Amino acid sequence: MKLIDGKAVAQKIHAETAKAVERLKSLGHPPGLAVVLVGEDPASQAYVRSKDRTCRELGMHSLKFELPATSSQAEVIALVHRLNADPAIHGILVQSPPPAHVDERAVIEAIDPRKDVDGFHPVNVAKLALGDPDGFVPCTPMGCQRLLIESGIETAGAHAVVLGRSMIVGKPMALLLMQKGLGGDATVTVAHSRTRDLAAVCRTADILIAAIGRPEFVKADFVKEGAVVIDVGINRVADASSPKGSKLVGDVDFNAVAPKCAAITPVPGGVGPMTIAMLMHNTVLACERLHNVKR
Ligand code: NDP
Repeated sequence: MKLIDGKAVAQKIHAETAKAVERLKSLGHPPGLAVVLVGEDPASQAYVRSKDRTCRELGMHSLKFELPATSSQAEVIALVHRLNADPAIHGILVQSPPPAHVDERAVIEAIDPRKDVDGFHPVNVAKLALGDPDGFVPCTPMGCQRLLIESGIETAGAHAVVLGRSMIVGKPMALLLMQKGLGGDATVTVAHSRTRDLAAVCRTADILIAAIGRPEFVKADFVKEGAVVIDVGINRVADASSPKGSKLVGDVDFNAVAPKCAAITPVPGGVGPMTIAMLMHNTVLACERLHNVKR
């Protein structure tokens, strides 16, 4: 069984990004990312801190906006419009989820698609579906695809089962795997909460991508001998043995599943570091495109 080291692959991508940042700076275009957080959700605060820190480590310009949970939708959208017009900002990200009174779709639609480094704007969703390479691809599925490529896992002709159909992970993951070309050309099945006999469907997978948000849900009987398993899940569960009283686990029961796999990602240290690496990659790409700089 091969353990797919997401941290190591993410470091490699960060090194490429740092080089591209240096080049853009030398041309007078330091890439800039703006991250907007509405409210005080502790998990979201941690994500935003880590994005801000990584940006700075890579030499990029980073702006962090922490708006109170009482901010109105109009205030959030007004900030997005300001950032759309700011030439020092090339990527805009509004941390999900916003408070219930803020319509997340309306906020995403307010972002200039050319600065939508999360790839959630309808224009970018359509470009991914169309196979148009000029859009932005959501960071987590793009990170999963890159992990497969970097690990030398052949997707062409493989049967990939994507467990989960969200707009953030499952759906774009399926689109990427079915695209023509490197990291694609797979035969794709998408499974979800209404799928009949889920374990049997998952057992047909050469590549199983689990993105459901259910701690250690995927057991050994979901996995074919020799399959590749990518675990997207990040779930915090109680753990009396940890000083924090909790730990992170994936959507896959790692100890039960790993012995059957040809390769598997751990949690933490698998898909998580890739997501942030792809966000930084997308921000640099946005800067290159906005300034017409070719790689
Ligand atoms: P969502 O809650 O938006 O979607 C979950 C999907 O899983 C839905 O399609 C749902 O089906 C399906 N599902 C839920 N329960 C079951 C079940 N019992 N059996 C079959 N299908 C089920 O989650 P996300 O896609 O946003 O996230 C999924 C996981 O990935 C979470 O653990 C999240 O924390 C993690 N994540 C990790 C990231 C990273 O950087 N590593 C980034 C983003 C997410 P239905 O549509 O029928 O309701």
